[in-house]
Amino acid sequence: MTQADVDLSRRELLKKGGLGVAAATAAATVPSAAKAAARAAVDRPVHYAMVIDTRRCIGCHACSVACKAEFEVPIGMTRSWVEYVEKGEYPHVTRHFLPRLCNQCSEPQCVTVCPTGATYKRKEDGIVVVDADICIGCKYCIQACPYDARFINPRTGTADKCDFCLHRIQKGIAPACVNTCQGKARIFGNMLDPESEVAKLIETEAVTVLRPEMGTKPNVYYIAADHADPQDTRYEGQYIRVDTHRKAKERR
Ligand code: SF4
Ligand code: SF4
Ligand code: SF4
Repeated sequence: MTQADVDLSRRELLKKGGLGVAAATAAATVPSAAKAAARAAVDRPVHYAMVIDTRRCIGCHACSVACKAEFEVPIGMTRSWVEYVEKGEYPHVTRHFLPRLCNQCSEPQCVTVCPTGATYKRKEDGIVVVDADICIGCKYCIQACPYDARFINPRTGTADKCDFCLHRIQKGIAPACVNTCQGKARIFGNMLDPESEVAKLIETEAVTVLRPEMGTKPNVYYIAADHADPQDTRYEGQYIRVDTHRKAKERR
């Protein structure tokens, strides 16, 4: 990533009043009415969101590495990762990439179960964060998250996960994964700003979210995502394999 790219990201962020976000939906496409209703229900000026255009993702893992470096994430732990999804029967086999991270949910189950209030959704911008000073490492949030987005950091003994690079965006700099993505597959911004790129993509593209049936209302949206779950009955009879470099055996 060149300095020009960094500056460009910075300009974009400042222009948009931060970066952008949106509302949730189903494994099927999120309808416009649902998007508008979700936006109207939010009483904050900024709500950050990310759109991941899987058509532009080449599975290079640069985002995973950038995140590792940004936060010195311990070996075996991940705040951001990329899954490979293979499906079909030879010779009709396809392979897709699915970048993953915390969805910064609008109805976060991790927040609901936290006994100390250490994990909460920020009123200012909708980012779900962990206050390490009052986290007791009970792991309730890890069990509650339907996306396996959290872990206990062995260095601190407290819960850890992606926070959209809060320390960077507060300075007007894009998240590390966004900044490093050469394919421009990750788009970040304020979804409440109708002029932001994320807002426009959420409005115009057939975006989907992961596991909408959980009711968490994710704020990470996917374009053309093949996030086929091996247990998804829609894919019954087809070969499906989801692979990742993570320690987790099962995908959630
Ligand atoms: S850096 Fe971009 S292109 Fe590479 S795996 Fe991540 S999202 Fe995909
Ligand atoms: S993805 Fe998991 S950790 Fe992130 S906000 Fe949603 S429930 Fe919480
Ligand atoms: S591990 Fe920390 S953040 Fe998670 S539920 Fe327990 S106290 Fe809350």
